[in-house]
Amino acid sequence: MKRLKNNKFLYTPFVLLVVVFASVSCIESEYHSSTITDEASHPVLLVSIDGFMNEYIERNETPNFDLFLSNGVQAEYLISVFPTNTFPTHWSIVTGLYVENHGIIANSFYDYELDANFSYGPPDSSPNDERWWGGEPIWATAERQGKTAVTFFWPGSEASINGIQPTKWVDYDGSIPDSVRIDSVMTWLDPAGDVQADFATLYFSFVDSRGHRHGPDSPEVDAAVVEMDGILGYLIEKVEETGLAENLNIILVSDHGMAATNEERVIFLDEIINLNDVDVVSWSPAGMLKPAEGKTEEVYLALKENQENYRVYLREEIPERLHFRDHYRIPDILILADPGFTITIRPFFQRRGVLPGTHGYDNLAPEMFTFFAASGPDFKIGEIVPPIESIHIYELLAALLKIEPAPNDGSAGELYHLLR
Ligand code: AMP
Ligand code: ZN
Ligand code: ZN
Repeated sequence: MKRLKNNKFLYTPFVLLVVVFASVSCIESEYHSSTITDEASHPVLLVSIDGFMNEYIERNETPNFDLFLSNGVQAEYLISVFPTNTFPTHWSIVTGLYVENHGIIANSFYDYELDANFSYGPPDSSPNDERWWGGEPIWATAERQGKTAVTFFWPGSEASINGIQPTKWVDYDGSIPDSVRIDSVMTWLDPAGDVQADFATLYFSFVDSRGHRHGPDSPEVDAAVVEMDGILGYLIEKVEETGLAENLNIILVSDHGMAATNEERVIFLDEIINLNDVDVVSWSPAGMLKPAEGKTEEVYLALKENQENYRVYLREEIPERLHFRDHYRIPDILILADPGFTITIRPFFQRRGVLPGTHGYDNLAPEMFTFFAASGPDFKIGEIVPPIESIHIYELLAALLKIEPAPNDGSAGELYHLLR
């Protein structure tokens, strides 16, 4: 969450300039927020296409994406949060919190206080327990303020947060056909229906799965992108059928990119340190190590001496821009593989090898840059804006829904230039 860390520049001319500039921006934000607060809000549909890169559209025939983009606004790319994995990134989008402030530090990790494993598949403890999830997701903010929110999948949407769940939500089941997800959400958004939702989410995972299995540059990913284009076409058709074409704001977002990986680019952790000296809280490519009592320095120095194709940090050295230090779940040592590299150990590598694609790297690695586009009554038409950061999406959603956001790390107004 936002904290005023340093006020020593408070009276310099530089700051005066900033203050003048900020006041101008405030006026501008006011202008925008007043244009979107005067009337009733338009419903918002937030669609996540997991692991979807901008270049996927550029290199494929995607008539429905093209149509969507020509009717809306697109960011050159979206910068996600670190680590660039599905659960941390999705939770940041809907809470506006950096990972160190929401605590979902990886897709799978161990929590020593709860003495439990966070993991999104059986047989481990389910992530529905609300103690895992820090912050307030936009659907809870909306429901708390009398709006109706629905989700057809979003990481964390199955958990009740402060006793609040979306009015409609569905237990994750990746086998539910994408058209069924769309049909249900459109029924819930239907202005003539029983639910008349103000906010809805959809989530599609197959482009990401294909990227892992075949690599981001594969024909299989291209086929998945064309398939996704068809699904977008189906969605647009349904929106028109429901009579929402003029009234619904649709945001298409992805959570991270995909880097090509291979068996030549591996870091064997068991050849650098003695694995008995550490617990691995989370694996590759952002390896989180909890050294045994008294072993931190020895483990750290061994990793530092062999630092090649990765960077190693003691927790307090982790670059501030990663916003990945403060949470108690983050252990003493972070070993972060360079893009394209995989951290593994010999026995695992021999059994399982390395998949051709992955993510989880530094959020400023270009391979992790991802996709954002929006269209609807509140968004500009036919514009491409410079890169934006996913941390501000929560504030944007709150502004669109005309609700008071919960405290968060995003900035109100930061994305208002996307609005009409
Ligand atoms: P990743 O391993 O980071 O690529 O995560 C993508 C995977 O997360 C998807 O293929 C799904 O299996 C899984 N996933 C996404 N959303 C959910 C959810 N709400 N509950 C459980 N698993 C999910
Ligand atoms: Zn993902
Ligand atoms: Zn993935």
